[in-house]
Amino acid sequence: MNLEFELFPYDGPTADFASLTGSLLWNLSIAETVEAFLARGWRHDFGDRVNTPYGMGPEVHLFRLPGGREVIWIPSYGNIYGLPEVSREPIQRAYWILWKAGVRVLLIGGLSGVCDWRDGASCLRPGDFVLPWSFRTHEDHWGLPGTAYDATWPEYNVFLEEPFCPALSAVVADIAGEFSEKGVIGRVYTPETLRAALVHVKTIAFETDYDILLYRVWNKLASQIDPKLPSVVSLHGDCVNPVLARFLGIHLVYYHVVSNVAQGIEPGGDIHNTFINLVLEKCPKMAIELEGRLFENWCLPDAPVCRCVERVERNPERFLKAITGGMKK
Ligand SMILES: [Zn+2]
Repeated sequence: MNLEFELFPYDGPTADFASLTGSLLWNLSIAETVEAFLARGWRHDFGDRVNTPYGMGPEVHLFRLPGGREVIWIPSYGNIYGLPEVSREPIQRAYWILWKAGVRVLLIGGLSGVCDWRDGASCLRPGDFVLPWSFRTHEDHWGLPGTAYDATWPEYNVFLEEPFCPALSAVVADIAGEFSEKGVIGRVYTPETLRAALVHVKTIAFETDYDILLYRVWNKLASQIDPKLPSVVSLHGDCVNPVLARFLGIHLVYYHVVSNVAQGIEPGGDIHNTFINLVLEKCPKMAIELEGRLFENWCLPDAPVCRCVERVERNPERFLKAITGGMKK
């Protein structure tokens, strides 16, 4: 551990609940999103950038709800203009803030292109709503350097089955079901009906035709391993470090709206305008209403039954002795 990082002062607010929701709100400025939450009767108690040991962090907004609950909102996944989107640097700053803020429940909503290998009516379409089953790990899913959460090994084993909080996601599915019946969104998928995995692209643009073709093959083969289980598809968009959320013991709830069919699957398909129209029209209002209702009604899950806080296992202290310098920790 680096004492300078450990003792770095935190000047932001604290709260049990937080949102990092991004692309669904991109048609609203930060000020307009704050106004939209205020229209629900919420109070805005803090709104400023917060410094971190890794550099100046993103804006952090604190709301006080009518029932007294406090909720933090960090705009657009914690992205900072000028830094690569959803890359290790801004994510570390955002997660350092969530850690210091004592956040227990983190909500993240985003848009993604769907890579579905199937044909016909079962294929996911733009506007469909998905609670993902799993995700693909990424080299930017790292820890908080200089802190006790720098690396998991050798002190801990961290397991990532059910990476998205089942108890809290069930409430999201209920509300999304209402929205679907009203035609606000398309069909609703949960891990019980579809094994959708989040994939964050590894470069500064969307995937190539070849990338997506590989994912179609993988998803088809993966589905065939156990045909009794729901089909596997991949959602290509954001995936903001679920590894670190679990390591920190945060209940992470992720939801995605399909913005388009992924690159190369529909030759001649207009990904750009399909995506832009969804962001401009339906998404912001839906996301504000969904997240407003969730934060106004959610209860913290009981710790012993929730994998989010149960799947960080401490290793025997002896393991440190097997490593050069390990006993100095
Ligand atoms: Zn949980």
